[in-house]
Amino acid sequence: MRTLEAYVDVIILRHPETGAAATAARYCQKPIINAGDGTGEHPTQALLDLFTIREELGRLEGLTVTMLGDLKYGRTVHSLARLLALYGAKLNYVSPEILRMPASLIEELKARGVPQQEGSDLEAVLGQTNVLYVTRVQKERFENLDDYEKVRGAYTITTETMSRAPEHMVLMHPLPRVGEIDIQVDHDPRAAYFRQVEYGLYVRMALLAMVLGKA
Ligand code: ASP
Repeated sequence: MRTLEAYVDVIILRHPETGAAATAARYCQKPIINAGDGTGEHPTQALLDLFTIREELGRLEGLTVTMLGDLKYGRTVHSLARLLALYGAKLNYVSPEILRMPASLIEELKARGVPQQEGSDLEAVLGQTNVLYVTRVQKERFENLDDYEKVRGAYTITTETMSRAPEHMVLMHPLPRVGEIDIQVDHDPRAAYFRQVEYGLYVRMALLAMVLGKA
C-alpha cells in the first residue's frame, strides 16, 4: 500500500479481508476508498443505494426497507442498514436461518433505536415494503458448498411476487444477480437495479471529486 500510494492520488481498495481498508488507511497518507472488504462493508454501494432510493421514491425519511437473501455474508446490506439508520428507516431482514444478519449489527442498530424485524417469510412483510433490497447468496464465502446448495435458491422474485408488492415501491439489487430475480421482472417499472448501476456512476464521480478537492 505504501508503494502504491506513491503513484496515485486515491486508492480504491477491494480486499477479501474484513477491516482491510481501515488497516490500509492507518498506513497511507492518500485517501483510501473501501470498495468492499470481505464480508464487512461496501460503503460506496450504500451511498449509491441511498441515492437510488431518493431518486426513485422522492424521499429517504421513514421508509420500510426489506433486505432479502444473504444478510450474513452480503457486505452491501451491512453498510446500507447502518446508513438507513440515519433516516428513521424500519428494517425487515428476510433470510434463510443460516444467513441471518449478524447479531452484532442488529444490536448496534437497536442501541440507535432502529426498529428491526427478522424472519424467513417474505410474504409477511412484502405488503408494507417501500424498498425490497435483494442480494445474492455469496457462494465464495461458504466453507462447505453443501450448505450453499441448501440455500442458493431459497428466494426468487418473480412477476407473481411483484403482483403482491405495493404499486409504489422499488426493487433493488447490488448485482450480480444469480437467479434471485427472474428476468421477466426486469420489465416491471419498479425494478430499479439497472438504473441503480447508473446512479452509482454519478455517486462515485461525486465522491472522487470530493476526495480530490474538486467539488
Ligand atoms: N457487487 C456487490 C459486492 O461487491 C454484491 C455482490 O457481489 O453480491 O458486494
